[in-house]
Amino acid sequence: MSYRPNLLLKNVKPVGADFDGSKQVDIRIADGTIVEIGTELEAGDSEETFDAEGAYLSGGWMDMHVHLREPGYEHKETIKTGCAAAAFGGFTEVACMPNTNPAIDSRDVVEFITKRAEELPVNVHPIGCVSKERAGKAIAEMSDMKEGGAVAFSDDGDPVYNAQLMRVALEYSSMLEMPIINHEEDLKLSRPGHMHEGRVSARLGIDGTPGIAEETMIARDILLAEFTGGHIHVAHISTAKAVELVRRAKADGINVTTEVCPHHFDLTDEEIERRDFDTNVKMHPPLRTQEDVDAMIEGLADGTIDAICTDHAPHAIEEKEVEFIYAPNGIIGLETAWSVSVRQLLEPGVLELTDLLDKFVKYPREILNLDVPQIKEGAEANLTLFNTDEKWTFAESVVKSKSNNSPYLGNEMTGRAEAIYNNGQFVVNEV
Ligand SMILES: [Zn+2]
Ligand SMILES: [Zn+2]
Repeated sequence: MSYRPNLLLKNVKPVGADFDGSKQVDIRIADGTIVEIGTELEAGDSEETFDAEGAYLSGGWMDMHVHLREPGYEHKETIKTGCAAAAFGGFTEVACMPNTNPAIDSRDVVEFITKRAEELPVNVHPIGCVSKERAGKAIAEMSDMKEGGAVAFSDDGDPVYNAQLMRVALEYSSMLEMPIINHEEDLKLSRPGHMHEGRVSARLGIDGTPGIAEETMIARDILLAEFTGGHIHVAHISTAKAVELVRRAKADGINVTTEVCPHHFDLTDEEIERRDFDTNVKMHPPLRTQEDVDAMIEGLADGTIDAICTDHAPHAIEEKEVEFIYAPNGIIGLETAWSVSVRQLLEPGVLELTDLLDKFVKYPREILNLDVPQIKEGAEANLTLFNTDEKWTFAESVVKSKSNNSPYLGNEMTGRAEAIYNNGQFVVNEV
């Protein structure tokens, strides 16, 4: 990592707004601002030069759903290590979920997190709790947390199970113009499921979580969003029927948005059998069927699914190295999101590069009412430098997260983020 506020980026191919990735230019950055875009620019005395050799450049990527574990679970991840993983994955901004200890349920904790992230090259936006102590009973101090810098509200890790609480939260959401992000799970239908309920779970004799546990909750939240005028953001969508519910609600003009994780448009529940109960394919919502994977890809293609997020959920080795049914849910994802998206969406032609980038750059920020970074003279330099064809291995030695619970560990990947520039810092990734 290096600190280079004055930088001449040579030979980049910008994508976004005025650029379609076909033209190669040089970009001069002074003290964190793009000051000149041109060809054959010469470096000044106080500038360092970085030759990108034709790599693409876009606005910095944002992951709107990560678990940074601090405060309270620093043995899994810290804000610093989580942001190092984010930078490696090409993300200049993340929004972090409130299931920390203490939970992010007050302005104090919101400010603690932003303060801890102040010097980092990655911006961290806290998501405040919907309910006090994330206990699902009384509404948290939402407007206070907004003033402190919270960008959304969620009890993620758990659903907002109480419909009356969700109604009130959505009423506040409408007043505060901020989304409520729900982990959509009807606990009575889902528990004690450890994987998707279907043919594979039946064969393996493991308790399953049926798709209907997610779908009934989404249907409820869509109705409540329509009733209150609030904005519901469906977290980590994973079933075909859930995508159809969101598609119909959007067509009806209801204020609903959604996101999907790379593993849900890539892997199926067959992996649990194939990998002999590897706990790195255990997460919530669980890996589902090929039909569901196909529906995620279709939802991304037709715009029903707005954003790609990782639900980055680090767990220490000793926590995951237990029997499948006892292992905690979740996998790390920041470092592999781009490569999985390249393989599943870009290479097969599901999305054009500009449309794929919108799911990493534009929509997460629009959902959270944040500024979308631009590549133009005078704009703040918030940038990701990346390629779509480099082969690299996601080896243990390149993992920046404090945990390595990933189903992609050891895999050969295609495409990676070569560097990010944000907050006056230029971070070059090495594999
Ligand atoms: Zn969740
Ligand atoms: Zn989550």
